[in-house]
Amino acid sequence: MIKIESKNLNIVAIFAHPDDLSIFCAGTLARWAEEGHNIYALCCTSGEVGTLRRDLTKEQVAATREKELKAANEIIGVKETIILDYPDAGFINGPELREKLVYFVRKLKADRVVTFDPWVAYEVHPDHLIVGRMAAEAAAFAAFPLLYTDQIKKGVEPYECSEVWFMGLLGHKPNYFVDISSTLEKKIEAALKFEATLELLAKLFAPKIDPANVSPDELRKLTKYANRLYRSMATAIGNKMDIKAAEAFFVQKTLPGHFDNFQQLTSEMLGNPPAKPKIY
Ligand SMILES: [Zn+2]
Repeated sequence: MIKIESKNLNIVAIFAHPDDLSIFCAGTLARWAEEGHNIYALCCTSGEVGTLRRDLTKEQVAATREKELKAANEIIGVKETIILDYPDAGFINGPELREKLVYFVRKLKADRVVTFDPWVAYEVHPDHLIVGRMAAEAAAFAAFPLLYTDQIKKGVEPYECSEVWFMGLLGHKPNYFVDISSTLEKKIEAALKFEATLELLAKLFAPKIDPANVSPDELRKLTKYANRLYRSMATAIGNKMDIKAAEAFFVQKTLPGHFDNFQQLTSEMLGNPPAKPKIY
């Protein structure tokens, strides 16, 4: 198994809605936290639209989901959870978000950013696309001292973030598989902190269960379904590399203003296969 870095890194996961991490990269973040890296979770909205219930206001949903996120992040081992106040479901102003994310990349001295792949096909959620795009741009642009000079005047220094890890569904074949066999339990436990997860599980496996009013017996049932769902996803990804359970990423080294992938993409453009993926 390959270990990329030995020093402790500042790793910032930048995502759109409170439950995103638990689905796409919680096993990996939990592993990195156990290895001693500093994990920050930066959620761009409160996810206030993300419910099927009709008895709640957006404010109530936002308050609940923020609490759920903090509880889930405690399980994952996140050092600090930051929630930005962008509106949920398609109303994020891209350039404004990029400026804010550059600020956080600089302030937290982010060595690695984990986010959505904004170049994936069939992603219907506009927040995932804009957040992934602006997070990637922030990682690549935070090093420029003439950009957002107000931040620098206030004492937040430019910082060269070295890597962007795109998570979840990818527009490119993954080039890193993270073995999450030892942290899959934490991932499932974190996911179960969200009513949205219970809603999804009830929809998929037990439509008679009302996720807003779950009895202890029903919760046991939904926990069983969560285990089944998350394990099967992790196993399907892991099978590709003969690992028991995995999460997949497309990792880019970052240069100021660029990704360091010209050679690789040129080679692929000419019809050569991508390099063999690595296991972390
Ligand atoms: Zn989301």
